[in-house]
Amino acid sequence: MKVAFVVFTLFLCSEGCPRIISRSEWGGQRSKCTSYLKPPMTYAVIHHTEGNRCFSTSTCSAQMRNVQSYHMKNRKWCDIGYSFLVGEDGNVYEGRGWKTLGAHTLNYNSVGYGICFLGNFTGVAPGTKALNAAQQLIKCAVSKGMLKSNYILKGHRQLGSTKCPGNTLYNIIKKWPHWQ
Ligand SMILES: [Zn+2]
Repeated sequence: MKVAFVVFTLFLCSEGCPRIISRSEWGGQRSKCTSYLKPPMTYAVIHHTEGNRCFSTSTCSAQMRNVQSYHMKNRKWCDIGYSFLVGEDGNVYEGRGWKTLGAHTLNYNSVGYGICFLGNFTGVAPGTKALNAAQQLIKCAVSKGMLKSNYILKGHRQLGSTKCPGNTLYNIIKKWPHWQ
């Protein structure tokens, strides 16, 4: 029993992964996606939703449901487009996750994860908790073998004609490891 407990504890605490709020926890609709990734991925691509910011698990969960509904109903996608989203409550929210092909960055969906900050960060920076959670998620992805150890970090605007992830957030991620 003691060994089992230790293994269980190591599993929970391994890899320094942030808390990831599951789809059922945020009230997500069932994914209709049928295309999958073959990790490890080469790219981590940073986005913002350009929508409302959120600072609590309940309001971020509501934002997740809004974004998913917009992507599924209006854009007719099989699920919320991003792999993971990050709230200013300091939590990561599961989008398509590690294994499902995303719809976040044209031409890069099969080679990268889309990590999206909930909010509009054109003129204001995300809070420290959100910035830390996103960086922790990237490290976690490497330690789980989902992202190559020599991964490339990009802002969405570097890979397509968009201002995403907003000027302020973009200037922040340019200082993060592996940005090029
Ligand atoms: Zn974007």
